[in-house]
Amino acid sequence: MKYLKEYDGIKSTTMYTISPTTKRTNDMCRKISDEIFDIINSNINADENEGEKLKNIYNEAVNLTLMNNKSNNIKNTFKKPRIPIPFYGFILDNRCFGVKKNHNLYTQCMNPKVEGMYCKVCAKQANNTSTGKPVYGDITDRKDQWNEQLVWAPEGKTKEVPYMNIVKKMGLQIGQAQQIVEELGWGPIPNCHLEERKIRRGRPKVKNVAVEDSDDENKPKRKRGRPVGSFKKKEKKKEPTDEELIALLCGE
Ligand SMILES: [Zn+2]
Repeated sequence: MKYLKEYDGIKSTTMYTISPTTKRTNDMCRKISDEIFDIINSNINADENEGEKLKNIYNEAVNLTLMNNKSNNIKNTFKKPRIPIPFYGFILDNRCFGVKKNHNLYTQCMNPKVEGMYCKVCAKQANNTSTGKPVYGDITDRKDQWNEQLVWAPEGKTKEVPYMNIVKKMGLQIGQAQQIVEELGWGPIPNCHLEERKIRRGRPKVKNVAVEDSDDENKPKRKRGRPVGSFKKKEKKKEPTDEELIALLCGE
């Protein structure tokens, strides 16, 4: 059972990275192989036991061949989700552990890990922050702090938004998103992400007026235009009198 064991090992780590296209290709290869096997099998006179044994060896061999196929390799088959998908506690172990802003959904960076836990970009960010983490944080911290209130925010940044806000804003298909998370092996997108949150843009109108009023009131009340008296005094100081000018020129 050597083949099957190896196959299971590979399968457990790569299952969610097989794209629908790869799956279709694999199914097609398997179908052709099965036809070839049936032709061979019908041309050899194996008894029932031997036939079954042969079929098992054949199945294992096909599985292993398909899994070892270069196009099934993790790095080659992993595709970043075609549309933004929300974060709700799931992490892909073989992807960068940085957090990306991603329309304020603050999702895991989908680049491959290059330096330690991060991709090249996130590792560079982590080297330049006081926390030693990428600008928007580390996805494992985000996972620890995640809850259905959806109020998480990276240090000094705006808080996360429900997925539905982005769905509406970008005109996404929620069905497509549900299909992607299913392919990733995650549970369905939770309800907290499916309710739009109204976000008021800019400063509230009432507050604005109040600020303007208080600004006016704080300023000392005075007549419009320049104060006449002080202006004259200033002018007098700036412009020397004839006597002063003569004194200056004579060097007194
Ligand atoms: Zn990254």
